[in-house]
Amino acid sequence: MNNRRPFIAGNWKMYKTCAEAVETAKTLTGLVSDVKNVDVMIAPPFTALSQVHEAIKESSVMLGAQNIFWEKEGAYTGEISPGMIASAGCRYVIIGHSERRQFFGETDLSVNKKIRAAINNSLAPVFCVGETEKERDGKDTFNILDKQLKMGLEGFSPGDLERMILAYEPVWAIGTGKTATSAQAQEVHRFLRNLIENLFGKKIAGSVRILYGGSVKPENIGELMSMPDIDGALVGGASLNAEKFAEIIKYK
Ligand code: PEP
Repeated sequence: MNNRRPFIAGNWKMYKTCAEAVETAKTLTGLVSDVKNVDVMIAPPFTALSQVHEAIKESSVMLGAQNIFWEKEGAYTGEISPGMIASAGCRYVIIGHSERRQFFGETDLSVNKKIRAAINNSLAPVFCVGETEKERDGKDTFNILDKQLKMGLEGFSPGDLERMILAYEPVWAIGTGKTATSAQAQEVHRFLRNLIENLFGKKIAGSVRILYGGSVKPENIGELMSMPDIDGALVGGASLNAEKFAEIIKYK
């Protein structure tokens, strides 16, 4: 047994207008108002952050953004700074999601800068790593994860990482309906925790929460959460529906 508190996060990606986001958030807070033992976070699109914050601020549901740029301000058209999302009510920010790596050219180096910027602005990063199908088939999973984790966290101290959340998201399982088996996910989570222990020590390795992401749904969350190194989930598609997401949150 460990004393890591389960953390379940919803990544709403590029879905929902402001009104839709507020409605879903309000329904969700009602459905999970009796949940005491799980941390819940939702990450709506930037445009809805402020209004969703207003809608959930009296509840225990927390707010996150899906990305940031690392600079404080400046001539960076289209970008959003850590201070801006914090001022909209965010406490978390997803960094290095595979869709950003795949479609927007994010690299381990830019991910590293974004994690640094998040921490410097008192935001907790939800740092995503994961291998593609080709990499898994080529038996390269652990090499890839080793590289992503070491480069993403290069230059950090154990103290920097106290609030960091790690998310293992096999790219082949995101939005595909294919879920890693609980044994496959557990094997990787154990590997990541060992790597953190080697790099930053036992204390952080024992306390860091490692989420699984990739086609999580009400039907598979229980099995995933029964694994000793799986501390929660990063949920995409199924988090868009408040009822379905609440079912996942109430997996016990
Ligand atoms: C995600 O967006 O991080 C994700 C895991 O998506 P899905 O649950 O839809 O696979």
